[in-house]
Amino acid sequence: MSNIKFGPTGIGSVKDAVSNLEAYGKLGMKAAEVLFTYGVYIKNKEDAIKIGKAAKKLGIQLSVHSQYWVNLNSKEEEKIEASKKRILKCCEVGHLLGARRVVFHPGFYSGMESEQVAVKIREGILEMQEIVKKEKWDIELCPEVMGKVNVFGSIDEVAGLVRDTGCGFCIDLAHVLARYGKYEFDAIEKAFPQKKWHVHFSGIEYGEKGEKNHIVTPIEEWKKVLKFLKGLDKEVVLICESPDAVGDSVVGMKIWEEN
Ligand SMILES: [Zn+2]
Repeated sequence: MSNIKFGPTGIGSVKDAVSNLEAYGKLGMKAAEVLFTYGVYIKNKEDAIKIGKAAKKLGIQLSVHSQYWVNLNSKEEEKIEASKKRILKCCEVGHLLGARRVVFHPGFYSGMESEQVAVKIREGILEMQEIVKKEKWDIELCPEVMGKVNVFGSIDEVAGLVRDTGCGFCIDLAHVLARYGKYEFDAIEKAFPQKKWHVHFSGIEYGEKGEKNHIVTPIEEWKKVLKFLKGLDKEVVLICESPDAVGDSVVGMKIWEEN
């Protein structure tokens, strides 16, 4: 049976982060993802350290979600450089927070074949890994499985990056559902034999092109996904990304405990 750390996406503003984490702790949360999706908003080193210490004391494992404005396969070299800089900033602050993982959206196809794109993105990851190592940041780069069919980040594409660079990964099960029209549990299990999994989940609306919106997770979807995870033997951090991420995490945790 897997072991799951449940937690929501987002810890709130610098001012509210510690009290939010305390509230999460009271609810039994064991994880939380810091959202730098619109920028690295924790500017002071002292604040990052303070928030990280509070999380540690509460037994909450932090991770970071990097900026939406990232594309490691842009046709413009400057945009790739800017993307790497953004992700590395997340690594730097993430390290101060005591976060173990920086989740990022790897990039767009930009009209290229999957193979070519993989080469380019791999290059970017390897470069960033060198800097992370040099700076002694204790943090792992985790490209995410993406929910839109025109975005690089299928199950196999992410698994390929992991194989080729030794990076971490984020399996977004809602994205899988949106991209493939089903959860593809078997394929996921095969593609990610690693013991430690970083998972995103929520309800999702989708169409032919994949992901449209994240929604509150229907109970039935929780049950399907938790049953799958229960049947494995993994150490899972499960970040809920629904519009009610905290309430929904509590629901998921209860279902996990009762089934
Ligand atoms: Zn994401």
